[in-house]
Amino acid sequence: MNILLLAPPAAGKGTQAKEISKEYNIPQISTGDLLRKANDPKINEIMKKGTLVDTSFTIELLKKRLMQKDCKKGYVLDGLPRSLEQAKAYEKLLEELKIPKGIVLFLNVPKEISRKRIIGREICPNCNEIYNELFEDRKPKINGICDKCHTPLTKRIDDNDETFENRYKIYLNETEPLIKYYESKGNLYFVNSAINEKHTFKQIKEIIGGAYDKH
Ligand code: AMP
Repeated sequence: MNILLLAPPAAGKGTQAKEISKEYNIPQISTGDLLRKANDPKINEIMKKGTLVDTSFTIELLKKRLMQKDCKKGYVLDGLPRSLEQAKAYEKLLEELKIPKGIVLFLNVPKEISRKRIIGREICPNCNEIYNELFEDRKPKINGICDKCHTPLTKRIDDNDETFENRYKIYLNETEPLIKYYESKGNLYFVNSAINEKHTFKQIKEIIGGAYDKH
């Protein structure tokens, strides 16, 4: 089982990937996390601006991750492909590693919700729990403190209005055209990700349950 998540910024990819990972016992792979972990000053600078890191560098990091043993039974990938160039490079990588093409879930969310999710996002650096100060049902009980482990929450360096606009523009120009690409390949499924996490995950489980035998 391998599942690819395609979405505008902050459509809930990370949150849903975590849920899928738990439910189906497969690792969650995020290219954003792989790049952050690489901790390279040049890469950090690109990420700070919200522009895209070089495809071959990103694919190489992904290749190393997919070759690890825990990916044998499948994985959920969020953050790649972000462009047609990456979609093609990813396909080549799957062929090389003899991994089946799997399914693609497109998490759909309107731009304004996407913006609020980004601007208000707060992350626990200790347990990775995600909160949002702009949504009542996502606020921590105590402002700026993790409910679970009481660590002070942090914001991602690229979660600001200016970077959001940049990321959204790139999404529209580079990533959104992939919807048509995957539609033509026949393995794309639409998910409404605008209501709440539970609503989104319910649809995902139905899709995976119904679709997986076919792929
Ligand atoms: P994310 O954590 O998915 O929101 O990604 C954060 C940032 O990491 C993006 O704005 C890009 O700068 C970089 N990034 C993540 N995934 C990719 C990718 N597949 N290709 C190029 N850059 C990426």
